Amino acid sequence: MSIAENIAQVRANIAEAAREAGRDPKEITLVGASKMNDAAACREAIAAGIDVLGENRVQEMIQKLAENAYDGAPLHFIGHLQRNKVKQVVGKVDLIQSVGSLELLDEIEKTAARQDLVQDILLEVNIGEESAKSGFAPAELFAAAEAALSRPHVRVRGVMTIPPADADRDTNMRYFEEVRTLYVDINAKLFHNKLEYLSMGMSGDYADAIRAGATMVRVGTAIFGARHYS
Ligand SMILES: *Cc1c(COP(=O)(O)O)cnc(C)c1O
Repeated sequence: MSIAENIAQVRANIAEAAREAGRDPKEITLVGASKMNDAAACREAIAAGIDVLGENRVQEMIQKLAENAYDGAPLHFIGHLQRNKVKQVVGKVDLIQSVGSLELLDEIEKTAARQDLVQDILLEVNIGEESAKSGFAPAELFAAAEAALSRPHVRVRGVMTIPPADADRDTNMRYFEEVRTLYVDINAKLFHNKLEYLSMGMSGDYADAIRAGATMVRVGTAIFGARHYS
């Protein structure tokens, strides 16, 4: 299957899950998670109408930017971001999806202020409260959103999550629903319901994420094929 055929299949699945949930498929943004796929693969996805490309690793992204891999589509940073790499990302991507600590938030604020721009971000929730994973604990999200509101060079556009990899389907669904509840709450109480992005769901669970209210899904393997780690 080609990348274009895979995207068509993923779109069809998204549409079906959206309709089942009584939602308009057009509400859902498809992010192609293009890590470990080269510039040619990125261009193929863009030609096939992917909405956004998302990268995980700063070094890889910088190299592919130099190859014009993302021309014609918005670019998101979706991976774990170290503070010392913030300079390489702020102003280069349309959205940083993975802001999961106040230290990172402050570094982005500082860097964006120096560049005289406003960086769009999502707040990442560590819904399984896994110690090895970054992200705000569910109980910290409200305060994190308030903190972001007081920083003029970041603009919160929504919430992102990656549930524990080993959760069974029901537990996974419960995590998605918990994050949706948090998102709806901060959206109503702090953002005048202007937030648009609830980013959750990957190749194995994007249909369930949509049933639980996701407006953005990040799909890698189902579009680009299996990644080969060497
Ligand atoms: C790799 C990645 C994805 C996509 O994962 P697949 O299972 O290949 O679809 C989504 N989100 C993030 C943050 C990722 O790193």
